[in-house]
Amino acid sequence: MIVEIVSTGTELLLGQIVNTNAPYLARKLNELGFDAVYQTTVGDNRRRMASVFSIALERADIVITSGGLGPTQGDITKEVSAELLGRDLQLHEPSVEHIQAFFKRRHLTMTNNNLRQAMMPTGAIVVTNHRGTAPGVIIEHGEKTIIHLPGPPAELEHMFENSILPYLTNRFGGQGVIISKVLRTFGIGESILEERIRQFILAQKNPTIALLARSGEIHVRLTAKADSEDAARALIAELEASLREHIEEYVFGMDEQSLEQVVGEELRRRELTVALAESCTGGGATAKLTDVPGSSAYLIGSIVCYDNRIKTELVGVAPETLQKHGAVSQETATEMAQGIRGRFAADIGIGITGIAGPDGGSDEKPVGLVYLAVAGQQGIIVEEEHFSGQRSAIKTRAVNSALDLLRRYLQKIK
Ligand code: ATP
Ligand code: MG
Repeated sequence: MIVEIVSTGTELLLGQIVNTNAPYLARKLNELGFDAVYQTTVGDNRRRMASVFSIALERADIVITSGGLGPTQGDITKEVSAELLGRDLQLHEPSVEHIQAFFKRRHLTMTNNNLRQAMMPTGAIVVTNHRGTAPGVIIEHGEKTIIHLPGPPAELEHMFENSILPYLTNRFGGQGVIISKVLRTFGIGESILEERIRQFILAQKNPTIALLARSGEIHVRLTAKADSEDAARALIAELEASLREHIEEYVFGMDEQSLEQVVGEELRRRELTVALAESCTGGGATAKLTDVPGSSAYLIGSIVCYDNRIKTELVGVAPETLQKHGAVSQETATEMAQGIRGRFAADIGIGITGIAGPDGGSDEKPVGLVYLAVAGQQGIIVEEEHFSGQRSAIKTRAVNSALDLLRRYLQKIK
């Protein structure tokens, strides 16, 4: 089954919003085994939208659109497809009631515009919107099916999951399954990683292997196609085991797992707490840790010790250390980690100090030089890193590297 995803909205063409609906739909459709092989974006313009719809209906069996179902004059998706398919628009009473109830629950006044959303092409299947007012629409037209979904991602995703997915599987049955799994690695460059698993990349068939670089992480995506989900998963498991033999020490998580989630789970499992003293990252590592719900179970707190006075007075770095070795040094990073650990009575202390640039570098201590330290019962590890790029990139790399260093430190603890 060939599927075309059509994203509508002038905002998309102007680059004012990022298209997240198309990738979402693509991912879902591929998982279901559909061949989602075309994606198009078109603005809120009748002529151009009609032309895109008609091309899509020619080359695809199923056309799924997003956007333009709302109450304003710019929302024309249904009108365009009704005209193209030679159908009238009629007021759909259950939708009117649904919209009225929606406004009433939120104590909002409904305008006549809102009734536009209840105008449906004749013979269409109307899909209730549980997250908003604009209903979705399915039109079965001969061999072809056109499905209109609302633009707001929360509405589109909920409707797809709960109504469209069951519809597609009921109507078109099993398409075979395509399943992907991502091994997320940190601390290894793309080319070195590729070198290590080269034999598998060259021999790949099913599953396929793709390497994707994502802000310091390299993701290894394995995709398998099979008759059943179990069979696809088995194919992936086999290849995954072989790959891991070559890259195990760099794999920190799977699929959507972030470094901060993994570190959080590891801390929680060992019932350990952590405190941070951050200089060049300005609190970024702490912010990342707090992105994880429930992080208060293991995160005590942190001090952003930008100024040397704060490094000594609040964190406990010795003034002599700063004088002798400088604020950006292995020694200072170590004392930051030890100091914050002691003062905050945490199991583990982390120190981060470096030069994010663009100024402040020297031959001896260039921009991008960062020291990371982790101190705990198992002793101290300090790492010297040399990052390149803009200030923000250096800060991000420092944050992620600190979390990864913590992850590796935790691995030493049973
Ligand atoms: P509404 O009832 O809110 O008008 P709609 O179905 O008419 O919904 P649009 O008017 O096209 O949809 O888009 C509404 C909003 O939904 C956009 O302003 C944008 O925030 C979001 N949106 C639309 N299309 C996309 C997309 N492809 N990716 C991400 N967000 C989108
Ligand atoms: Mg709209």
